Amino acid sequence: MSARPRARLLQVLRIVERTPQMRRITLGGADLAGFTAGSEGAHIKLLFPPLAGEAPVLPMLGERGPVWPEGAVRPVVRTYSVARIDAQAQELDVDIVLHGDEGPASRWALTARVGDSLGLAGPGGPELFRADADRHLLIGDPSSYALLCAVIAKLPGHARIDALLEVPDAEEVQPLPQHPGLTARWISRDGAPAGPSLRLLEAVRGLPWPSSDRVSATLAGESAQVVAIRDFLLRERAVAKSMMYAVPYWKDRWDEERYHDERHRIMDEFDEAQA
Ligand SMILES: Cc1cc2nc3c(=O)[nH]c(=O)nc-3n(C[C@H](O)[C@H](O)[C@H](O)COP(=O)(O)OP(=O)(O)OC[C@H]3O[C@@H](n4cnc5c(N)ncnc54)[C@H](O)[C@@H]3O)c2cc1C
Repeated sequence: MSARPRARLLQVLRIVERTPQMRRITLGGADLAGFTAGSEGAHIKLLFPPLAGEAPVLPMLGERGPVWPEGAVRPVVRTYSVARIDAQAQELDVDIVLHGDEGPASRWALTARVGDSLGLAGPGGPELFRADADRHLLIGDPSSYALLCAVIAKLPGHARIDALLEVPDAEEVQPLPQHPGLTARWISRDGAPAGPSLRLLEAVRGLPWPSSDRVSATLAGESAQVVAIRDFLLRERAVAKSMMYAVPYWKDRWDEERYHDERHRIMDEFDEAQA
């Protein structure tokens, strides 16, 4: 069997507190060589060691998929987004929401120190927006902050952009990239839980909707909210599936192990609805 590493082993270079509930972690190391430049917003898998400070065991890529060393404790895998990649300096930023210590990724980010190791696979994922649209709708929460910033930064100066971001409280509001066509609104939940929140949906409902506009929607965040907004755009605003990036990133009160299959079911259902 010819095996080669399936993931990169990186080290924490810097940690910046962006808000009380978000840390920007800069990862680097020789293993970043060849990482796709310009891939901000793309999906990546982070492989967390069982204990902070340890190096995660990484799989090799065998002929029939990943191959793990015998008896190895496998890392916990979570999906994140590229916030910034500097291929030349071999640095990659990830913006990680700190939502407590019950989730292994959030727990790792809370206690991470410069020099800690982390595995990374990717980048990948679907197209983030439709470049041929007249107007761009960007909808999300702190988990999709890196994605939405990446889309704003990639859109040309003549693009018209409406960005709506829901945050747990006002302290989580952050700067967005400068763009001449950007109208942004931050919506605070004032500490209320994310799953039942209808504030983002109401804000989307309230947007003016000239019928001539060809709209591209980039939508990601809490599952119940993403599904409700996606269905609203599809059914009541006639935004075609081909014009949407609509990905539920996490589900209130469900950890990723429990939510993973449900996310794929939701996305398959969406594909079938458009078939
Ligand atoms: C394509 C994609 C890109 C993503 N990009 C990012 C990114 O750039 N930055 C980022 O922070 N997240 C991102 N996420 C979301 C991230 O993968 C999830 O939040 C993940 O569940 C975190 O894992 P965990 O181990 O911390 O918590 P888990 O073990 O999965 O969950 C433990 C508990 O925490 C809750 N929880 C999980 N996520 C959140 C959250 N964001 N806010 C509040 N409560 C939460 C769960 O409901 C559960 O009750 C992305 C997800 C996808 C699918």
